[in-house]
Amino acid sequence: MKKCGNVMEEPPSGTMPQVPKAEGGRNFKGENMSDDRTKLPDEIFCSSCGAIIKRAAELCPKCGVRNRAGGPAFSADASDKDWLTALLLCIFVGCLGVHRFYLGRTASGVCMILFGWLTLGIWWLIDVIMVACGNFKDAEGKPVMRRF
Ligand SMILES: [Zn+2]
Repeated sequence: MKKCGNVMEEPPSGTMPQVPKAEGGRNFKGENMSDDRTKLPDEIFCSSCGAIIKRAAELCPKCGVRNRAGGPAFSADASDKDWLTALLLCIFVGCLGVHRFYLGRTASGVCMILFGWLTLGIWWLIDVIMVACGNFKDAEGKPVMRRF
């Protein structure tokens, strides 16, 4: 025990234990973490901060910005082709595969011209239903969806 009044020997400043930083580096930053994750089919990137969020989420939990792609009416992964145009093409000239050409699916469009008649209109009917329901995919695999 040291007596009161004695001058304490101060350790050299170099050996002083450093005060740990209050914040643990960049651990809480989302940027690096989101890069490691793969986006699931039902997830999208936030249009504001780029975080991976649920497609159905209205607000980004990280930055609070409204998710533009959210909601059932519009999806970020939807085709930018016009749904009504595709539907009308499919109904009126769908037996010639015109809607498939319109949506960039040239190969299957040609196939439909050549062999579609063999299906006695069933292929055409299925396409009409698929387009009408918004399940028809364009050349990039994106569904052609109604936007209104
Ligand atoms: Zn965000």
